Amino acid sequence: MTTSTASPETPLGAALPVPGRPAADIDTARVSYLVRQLLIALGEDPAREGLIGTPERVAAWWSNFLSPDDATSVTCFSEPLLSDQLVVVGGMSVWALCEHHMLPMNLEVTAGYVPDGEVVGLSKFGRIAAHFAGRLQVQERFTKQVAEYLTGVIGRKDVAVAVRGLHLCMSMRGVRMEAARTTTLHAGGRFGTDPVLNQQFLAAAQWNAA
Ligand SMILES: [Zn+2]
Repeated sequence: MTTSTASPETPLGAALPVPGRPAADIDTARVSYLVRQLLIALGEDPAREGLIGTPERVAAWWSNFLSPDDATSVTCFSEPLLSDQLVVVGGMSVWALCEHHMLPMNLEVTAGYVPDGEVVGLSKFGRIAAHFAGRLQVQERFTKQVAEYLTGVIGRKDVAVAVRGLHLCMSMRGVRMEAARTTTLHAGGRFGTDPVLNQQFLAAAQWNAA
């Protein structure tokens, strides 16, 4: 088996000029200061025992959550005899923040493709999902970004991505429907034109979600 490294147009870990990804380093000291101000504005006393250290902890979490990944490449393994086999990777659970309310959303991701002489290292699917999750995000854009990145990796549009989202902005505020889930589906290339392949992907996505 030989390996090669795919080079999609946007390498993972690069400083991506995309929404939700901070362009500059995070000013952790200023975030900490502002969280302290927020507590005061909310009528709290940041000096009371339970809140000592809270601004620093919150700032450290923001910094960790928004920090870009280490530069990483996507490894493809040469498998010349492999084609027409559907590969579906599911059960990938990642967290993002809804950019409209800054509340968490949990995204369950399933991705599929059909290898043509090369297979993508399986763990890379999780890395790609995590890369586009750790930021201010909306589920629809997340789905598109993961699909476009995978399209760049495999060099063809035959990529399917299904995302099932739990949005706290819908569960703990607004209509407060805890059981509500949002599903987004990208069906590129053959997944959009071949109903059998599309159904096979959706069936495999359901197994993975079960
Ligand atoms: Zn929201």
